Amino acid sequence: MVPHHADSIEKLINRLIKLPGIGRRSAERIVAYILDSSTEEIRGLAGSMMRVKESIRFCRICNNLSEGEICKICQDAHRRKDIICIVEKPGDVAVIEKSAKYNGAYHVLLGSISPLEGRGPADLKIDSLLLRLKQNNIREVIIATDADTEGETTALYLAKLIKPSGIKLTRIGVGIPVGSNLEYADSATLSKAMESRQNI
Ligand SMILES: [Zn+2]
Repeated sequence: MVPHHADSIEKLINRLIKLPGIGRRSAERIVAYILDSSTEEIRGLAGSMMRVKESIRFCRICNNLSEGEICKICQDAHRRKDIICIVEKPGDVAVIEKSAKYNGAYHVLLGSISPLEGRGPADLKIDSLLLRLKQNNIREVIIATDADTEGETTALYLAKLIKPSGIKLTRIGVGIPVGSNLEYADSATLSKAMESRQNI
């Protein structure tokens, strides 16, 4: 099929369809939106994208996304630092934060154990987690990895590792459908899962 768009439009469409959830039809609608908007608006949009790309990094303490060296959650003096909730990715922090029932700290593993895809414990941020558990007075560790095979494998591995320390260890789960990712759970389900977490 010969593209009927101007070259620059076709180029933009081909970039946009690489974005998650964007098909050709949506890409064309975004291009139409861009053409309809003011230059200022679109310059702001492009600038915001660049700023996020250039300024966001992983928090030095918990690996959550952060503008500076330490993320807002780790900086927050009102949050409990003696409870750590372990999640797979920064997006999971956002999901749990939305449920607004958790007031502790996080530790983002930046992945999960997946023998099939060749990812082992060494590929995750586990060393820094163990260091945190050793250095700080941690009362409870909540494992909130996904309910799929990789998430369960990771949870089991962490449980074995952390148990000897004597720190209270819990796993969220009730209400999270087996085999599913945290990010698809709604706030009510998630807050219930957090409340009804069980000792492991
Ligand atoms: Zn942090």
